[in-house]
Amino acid sequence: MSFVEALRRDAASLLTQGRVRLVLGYRIAGNGRRVPAMATSLAAAEKLVYDEQCKANLAAYLSKPHIARRTPVAIVATPQVVRALVVLAAESQLNGEQVIVLPVSAAGYSGPIDLKSAAAALAKPDRDAGILAKLKELMAMPPAERSKFWAGQFARCTRCYACRANCPACYCRQCIVEKNQPQWISTAARGHGNFAWQMIRAFHTTGRCVECGACEAACPAGIPLMLLNVYLADEAAREFGYEAGLDPAAEPLIG
Ligand code: SF4
Ligand code: SF4
Repeated sequence: MSFVEALRRDAASLLTQGRVRLVLGYRIAGNGRRVPAMATSLAAAEKLVYDEQCKANLAAYLSKPHIARRTPVAIVATPQVVRALVVLAAESQLNGEQVIVLPVSAAGYSGPIDLKSAAAALAKPDRDAGILAKLKELMAMPPAERSKFWAGQFARCTRCYACRANCPACYCRQCIVEKNQPQWISTAARGHGNFAWQMIRAFHTTGRCVECGACEAACPAGIPLMLLNVYLADEAAREFGYEAGLDPAAEPLIG
């Protein structure tokens, strides 16, 4: 039996036994893309897949109202998704008892476990060498040149907020960028409004970002958000010895 078949079998069994009301996983859309799947039936469980093209961080869906009211849930979880679940539980956004983890990784799939066990098995994933090299190059630039680089990147932001919608750490019911009484930030997709939005997104996820890359993968403008995320994750580690989602017993860095 392949590991995808084992995943489907376990998802179906959890649904049949009534242990979960929903399985969050991935399916193949008509255009061949891997998209999130919300399986509530055996037929839907039969269509679950997992491979390296499955990029969405499914933990982001747990805060969506139509999912949050369907607990308990099972969730297909890469190590980054498990880290995000740990962050959400530490921030009181998730009852770990209401989640069954279906852990997947490059090594395959290893059967349903609870969040506590999944967190205990976590190891810090390797980082993307390309991102680290680009970050090194950026940090070696004089500040004015680095500022110009980011100004060019942020100018392309259309304020679609796909990065926010795909981030497990962005769960506020109302985001500051949409407040208009008072309006803190210009909503126009240009200039200082874009700069403010980018800084707010990056700072609000500092010490909470699990480096899953879902924000950057979702960005239609191709803005290299992971450069900011990784830099700020390193700052949190350097200044406070804190790494998001790796220690379930740790107090959140910001709270
Ligand atoms: S900021 Fe991006 S990389 Fe970090 S947790 Fe959110 S989606 Fe993942
Ligand atoms: S997904 Fe990209 S273009 Fe859309 S708001 Fe985020 S950074 Fe801007």
